[in-house]
Amino acid sequence: MTELPRVFAPSFPLRSIYDRHAPRRVLVTGGAGFLGSNLCERLLGAGHAVICLDNLLTGRLENIAHLRSHPQFAFIEHDVINPFEIDGRIERIYNLACPASPPKYQRDPIHTFQTSVLGAMNALELARRKNARILQASTSEVYGDPEISPQSESYRGQVNTFGPRACYDEGKRAAETLFHDHFRVYGTDIRIIRIFNTYGPRMDPQDGRVVSNFVTQALQDAPMTLYGKGQQTRSLCYVDDLLDGMEALMESREIGPSPVNIGNPVEFTVAQIAHLVAKMTKTRAQLVHRPLPIDDPQQRRPDITRARTLLGWEPKVKLAQGLEPTIAYFRGQLDGQIAQPGA
Ligand code: NAD
Ligand code: UDP
Repeated sequence: MTELPRVFAPSFPLRSIYDRHAPRRVLVTGGAGFLGSNLCERLLGAGHAVICLDNLLTGRLENIAHLRSHPQFAFIEHDVINPFEIDGRIERIYNLACPASPPKYQRDPIHTFQTSVLGAMNALELARRKNARILQASTSEVYGDPEISPQSESYRGQVNTFGPRACYDEGKRAAETLFHDHFRVYGTDIRIIRIFNTYGPRMDPQDGRVVSNFVTQALQDAPMTLYGKGQQTRSLCYVDDLLDGMEALMESREIGPSPVNIGNPVEFTVAQIAHLVAKMTKTRAQLVHRPLPIDDPQQRRPDITRARTLLGWEPKVKLAQGLEPTIAYFRGQLDGQIAQPGA
């Protein structure tokens, strides 16, 4: 077997594999990104040792700066398309590495596809070597532009195989296939979460997603860019709710390999989201229309029956509630940019 590149990881105190409440060593790929950095912080807070592996493509060191001095935290800069080894025991792997914003994942579509597929392969191989449980961050994008609403896990989706979003949608679908085949062939202990649009602090203000765009535009009184007529819908989940669901899924004994939707089923048109942000920020910005991106899904709303029934999970944070800390976060980011010109 070819020797794999080894990456540094400190040796944390090991736990007994039979004690499910004792601290674990957890690997978070994509841990410097929006969801990943919030997850790393939570896991450390719960007493686990965390190894964050990221190539900083869309993630930022500032997201994890406050964690770097924690004795139970390690950061490894690495691209998941290349195999990796971690020294010592690993009990949980959250595989989050992949850009999630359409403009970002479309910038280098081949690398995005490689990240989804080769990244999943490399993370699964590590899980197999370590006998670790592994969770794949899949997406509502596997449903493409859905013909039914809400979307339940049994819906197989309507995805364009060669449109500009395909590198992401098909990459994530292929990753789900790999996860299931690893489970069938090797018995790898897998979990698959299908994440619906999630927002909150630590999103990159330059990310290009709907919440980051609307809030940063509104705070600067700059035109708020509504793509198409703004009648397409999204269901927005606050980050804390999402991570509650993600952790519940990871730690559930019963759920097994089938995918689980985690998202907020309250559906808004994009125009409604813009108006709410405008009202909450008291902006003087005007709404301007821009062309609807190719293959932009017209509706998206999760059926969360499975999460409710099997995990006892449902979101708690209403959109206006979750937007408050999100707006405060983006205000801080913009103030920081003004305070440090060119930074
Ligand atoms: P993000 O872009 O903020 O974070 C992704 C992280 O992965 C970044 O830190 C980035 O640097 C890292 N990364 C990207 N390619 C990599 C590579 N080849 N090797 C190593 N690291 C790499 O996005 P996010 O919103 O935090 O999303 C995290 C995960 O959740 C992604 O897998 C995404 O597909 C999934 N997801 C997110 C949402 C959402 O609404 N936030 C919705 C559905 C799915
Ligand atoms: N959108 C918009 N203006 C923006 C950014 C996004 O109207 O400045 C729309 C976009 O067309 C889509 C929705 O908001 O219909 C959500 O876009 P996002 O990129 O956040 O996520 P995704 O399309 O992957 O759900």
